[in-house]
Amino acid sequence: MLTAQTKSGTILNLGKEYNKENLADIRSKEVFFCPACGERVSLKLGTQRINHFAHRSGTVCRDFYENETIYHMKGKLQLYQWLVWQGIPAELEFYDPIIKQRPDIVFRYGEEKYALEYQCSPISEEIFIKRTEVYYQQNYNPLWIIGSKHIKAKRNNIFSLSNFVYSFLRKTKDNQLMLPSYCPEEKQFKILSSVRPYSTKNATANITHHLIDKTEIEELLAPQIIHYFNFFKWSLEMEKFMLNWSLHPNPELNRFLREIYVNNLNLYLLPPEIGIPSRRSLFIQTPAFIWQTYFYLDVLQNKIPKELIDLKEVERHFNKRILKNEIIIRRVPQLKNEKSFHAVKEYLFQLEKLGIVIKRSETVFQLRSRISIPKSNREKEERRKEFYQKYGSLLEKI
Ligand SMILES: [Zn+2]
Repeated sequence: MLTAQTKSGTILNLGKEYNKENLADIRSKEVFFCPACGERVSLKLGTQRINHFAHRSGTVCRDFYENETIYHMKGKLQLYQWLVWQGIPAELEFYDPIIKQRPDIVFRYGEEKYALEYQCSPISEEIFIKRTEVYYQQNYNPLWIIGSKHIKAKRNNIFSLSNFVYSFLRKTKDNQLMLPSYCPEEKQFKILSSVRPYSTKNATANITHHLIDKTEIEELLAPQIIHYFNFFKWSLEMEKFMLNWSLHPNPELNRFLREIYVNNLNLYLLPPEIGIPSRRSLFIQTPAFIWQTYFYLDVLQNKIPKELIDLKEVERHFNKRILKNEIIIRRVPQLKNEKSFHAVKEYLFQLEKLGIVIKRSETVFQLRSRISIPKSNREKEERRKEFYQKYGSLLEKI
């Protein structure tokens, strides 16, 4: 950690400028205490490592703060100095006794009080959600920033993202979804946007780089988002994933294959209308081609043109699948007002563009034409080709 209390109760903040000689001098005359647990801590000064305070072994607090890596401390320090440099009132490792939490940085900007958590080591979903909720209850605006090393690019615009990474998704001031990360080595923010998962772990996304020296807080809270999305590329990745997935039997796959088999479907002959992304499809962890197949089976398969589709009915089926663990939703703590069912609604809007359904009212759609299921690989390929040509750019717009 970067702050400690002295005997007289003042806080020594290593984020403010202290040169090493000064600190060595203070260290020879002072004792230091952890502001959170009150135990003695020692001031570590080094040429390689960054100056920091450390608990002695065996303290309860230790695991909490000591697992802090240099990477984390460096980043926290840089973020703190970055805020101070902009004249923003900020406190490093401010211990709030009411919530018994110590966010990395607390700062005030505009009308808001922010709790900035720069997280570099994975924590459980439960802890993440709990901390976030406590912040909301105490009128903090939580701002979680992940260490960039967790953002793994597989190829250009293709990322491998764990559920831990997805937890950092938040909304920009103008309601776009973004995922902020920071790298203390490169001294830059890396912001992901337009995240479109094609499998549980993999997604296409855009990434923008913002050097900390050239970035102001406003640019982090409301960054210019690139809306670029390539549907063709996404589909190719999804197909590749689907093929690979089908070659490695697992319970999820077996259950899915069994169900589509009894319904005369074949994984390799799914129509192009099944397995398309939308802005909110990331709120469902189950890959789009799976939950959209379930949607087809539950809602569309037995309907004839002109028949009505009630959203309540759709939602009921969706919730049933969730209860049976056939569809898994993704929990995104900083976006608790977003419902995974919105992704299903967006899918219906996509189907409207494709001429499959028509919106009749806020809650009712009508089937316009049935989705035809390809009967051979050749037919499937032809349908796909035609589909991309006709609808590719249309589907990139949501
Ligand atoms: Zn402590």
